[in-house]
Amino acid sequence: MPVSEDRQKFVYDFTEGNKDLKDLLGGKGANLAEMTNLGLPVPPGFTITTEACKVYLAGGQEPPALRDEVTAHLDALEARMGKKLGQADDPLLVSVRSGAKFSMPGMMDTVLNIGLSDDSVAGLATQAGDERFAWDSYRRLIQMFGKTVLGVDGELFEEALEEAKRAKGVATDVELDAADLRTLVGEFKDIVAKETGRDFPQDPREQMDLAIRAVFDSWNGERAKLYRRQERIPGDLGTAVNICSMVFGNLGPDSGTGVAFTRDPASGHQGVYGDYLQNAQGEDVVAGIRNTMQLAELEQLDKASYDQLMQIMETLETHYRDLCDIEFTIERGKLWMLQTRVGKRTAGAAFRIATQLVDQGLITEAEALSRVTGNQLAQLMFPRFDEKAKTDLLGRGIAASPGAAVGKAVFDSYTAVKWSRSGEKVILIRRETNPDDLNGMIAAEGILTSRGGKTSHAAVVARGMGKTCVCGAEELEVDTKRRRLTAPGGVVIEEGDVVSIDGSSGKVYRGEVPVVPSPVVEYFEGRMHAGADDADGLVQAVHRMMAYADRMRRLRVRANADNAEDASRARRFGAQGIGLCRTEHMFLGERREMVERLILAHTDDERQQALDTLMPLQKADFVELFEAMDGLPVTVRLLDPPLHEFLPDITDLSVRVALAEARHEPHENDLRLLQAVHKLHEQNPMLGLRGVRLGLVIPGLFAMQVRAIAEAAAERRNAKGDPRAEIMIPLVGTVQELEIVREEAERVIAEVEAATGTDLRLTLGTMIELPRAALTAAQIAEAAEFFSFGTNDLTQTVWGFSRDDVEASFFTAYLEKGIFGVSPFETIDRDGVGSLVRAAAEAGRATRPDLKLGVCGEHGGDPDSVHFFHEVGLDYVSCSPFRIPVARLEAGRAAALGKGSSDTR
Ligand code: PEP
Ligand code: MG
Repeated sequence: MPVSEDRQKFVYDFTEGNKDLKDLLGGKGANLAEMTNLGLPVPPGFTITTEACKVYLAGGQEPPALRDEVTAHLDALEARMGKKLGQADDPLLVSVRSGAKFSMPGMMDTVLNIGLSDDSVAGLATQAGDERFAWDSYRRLIQMFGKTVLGVDGELFEEALEEAKRAKGVATDVELDAADLRTLVGEFKDIVAKETGRDFPQDPREQMDLAIRAVFDSWNGERAKLYRRQERIPGDLGTAVNICSMVFGNLGPDSGTGVAFTRDPASGHQGVYGDYLQNAQGEDVVAGIRNTMQLAELEQLDKASYDQLMQIMETLETHYRDLCDIEFTIERGKLWMLQTRVGKRTAGAAFRIATQLVDQGLITEAEALSRVTGNQLAQLMFPRFDEKAKTDLLGRGIAASPGAAVGKAVFDSYTAVKWSRSGEKVILIRRETNPDDLNGMIAAEGILTSRGGKTSHAAVVARGMGKTCVCGAEELEVDTKRRRLTAPGGVVIEEGDVVSIDGSSGKVYRGEVPVVPSPVVEYFEGRMHAGADDADGLVQAVHRMMAYADRMRRLRVRANADNAEDASRARRFGAQGIGLCRTEHMFLGERREMVERLILAHTDDERQQALDTLMPLQKADFVELFEAMDGLPVTVRLLDPPLHEFLPDITDLSVRVALAEARHEPHENDLRLLQAVHKLHEQNPMLGLRGVRLGLVIPGLFAMQVRAIAEAAAERRNAKGDPRAEIMIPLVGTVQELEIVREEAERVIAEVEAATGTDLRLTLGTMIELPRAALTAAQIAEAAEFFSFGTNDLTQTVWGFSRDDVEASFFTAYLEKGIFGVSPFETIDRDGVGSLVRAAAEAGRATRPDLKLGVCGEHGGDPDSVHFFHEVGLDYVSCSPFRIPVARLEAGRAAALGKGSSDTR
């Protein structure tokens, strides 16, 4: 620990912080401070920093200075409020809430009503003039404290509460009176004593200290860890703890609590949106326990508070220049703000809101780009349900998170995970979800609940994950014990029956509803124009954001495409050329046998014949491709994979030969094939005879391919086309390999140019996909006009991971152990593979300043990796046609963020 640790400030009053101190005060603490400074009605309080949490997590002890600092802030709070924590005749009560830098809804702990005890409960009753309220607050404290701080099974409290209601013959807890609640408090205390072997602590300061520690501990709870991994939140940030004086929403019908958004987080439409629950406290709204009323209805109930709230929401939106979500409480007609933050939103809402804010003059185009992500765009490209399909509507809920999900009904998280592991698509159906359902929600295609609003746990978490969710489908009766759902009219869905849920309309269907492409894809395909009447606001917003990105970006975006159809789609999607045409794909199907003949050839003549039959077919492929990409570069890679991939499987063939021999009918060709298969069999084919090595040992193979490219280019040129072919050599490890291939290629090209009277201007370059190539990039650049980083093979060879095997075998364990947050085959490993890319790019350019640099591994379409390639100065990324819009957007975002727009995550 640093020596200065004791002098570090660990506690900040709400008046001391601001919204930019999220690292230190967590999101909630920083925003409470910001609201306090804006003069909004925030109950006074203070925040314990994430630094204190880090010290605690590292050593298992709070920093020694913390206790005194908390005492000083508590003293000041008590002086300000004119009462002491837990004071018998008039207790100050506080909430203790977690709040990390990034919001982790429902993942960590909160305890309300700290300071209540057998003594002060009476004082609270007198002060509030409401005995029932005091006992209700006390039972809530014991329940929350028991569960989150002392680790008592929450079900025990729930059962006791249910039993009390049953005994009295009432349906809701509001109908329990003071005496009932007093009895319940006694029962709750017994549960605590029995389960923990200690009495519920009566000392208010002890309650507070234990609650603070529980919040620190909850950072490393299983739920929180899982959520962080899913959301890629670093595990070492720690959480802050907010101690806030309590205000009460459960003081009667003129009190209540609510959550609201300054715009609709599902659609992005302008206008406030929210839920309000009368006579309720804290988490009741989000927990979806009782059904809420819409915020608009509050206007009838309490116009003054409603008007003030509207005003505050406008202030917040203009101040944060973004959609904000808030939590508020009304205590006997007085409005209090408990939380605000820049709110989570669906992908569609993100695009709409970003463009709206540009139109309102609140943000710049570059900032707008920081408000959306490539992953959100990818989500918008998912298919939707076909409106014209015949459907069997079961019921309707709230459209909480868009998308079209089809799967088998499951009624608990365990089954969701189990079935999805065996390859089933499932829809998780619950009455309501809670943080324990996280695993099941991750495993499911979509989530359906019968209770709770747009701000319920299911809705908030599903939106965060980009999962389809319909919530609050009250007309569907969910029976998790009997594992069935009953729709109006008595239709029953049993576990395993297929259902379809539409997170954009809230509709739930029996059976599988067919899906159609999204309007965003229709737009990219050119089948819908952003300005057309039938284009919705979403398509217009996407169109505008793509234009911002295209204006901003430095990186060009190319496609990995092997045929004219993919090339044309890529072009429609905005590709600026082909970065990788894998020619092996041209050797499959009927042509596989021709390759077989090439491999089996005994004599030069036989080999030449085989090549001569392949040549015109290859050429025709290239003509089509160059035509589709006329005027744009097309990088054609010469044959890469091990030859055995073109031969029958060794086991199948051995069996066939053995059977034929047993029948005394040996098949000559099969025997020869088997010999060849044995000869070419390798233990590690990906490290064997492939790439440039093939070109060097199979005479004429690369020459044939080069000739096909050159003749195709000549044909296009003579047809007044503008072919821009680039020839790429795979798996080069040393410049000598490249020099040999280059010499031969130049000879062939010169022959074709002479024969056709054309100047083809073909360029020749190489993949950089082996560590040795990266390390000797300065030499290789002498023989290459361009480099294309093959980050698939480079990741495989730098890590020593077999790209075909390891993801399935042990990556889950590695992810769980936090060795990496995401597979290095998905997102570039900046420190390892990335540093080789950076160094090779620099070394290559030092040799040849105009060396063109690109990447064509899968990482070319991955958002984080695109940012890295922008940073290291590549000229282009290349990815599959469907990822092109994502890469364009991310390339724009990389440029915009580099210019200093803040990322709002
Ligand atoms: C690569 O290795 O990154 C690459 C693009 O080539 P392939 O995936 O075809 O090996
Ligand atoms: Mg490769």
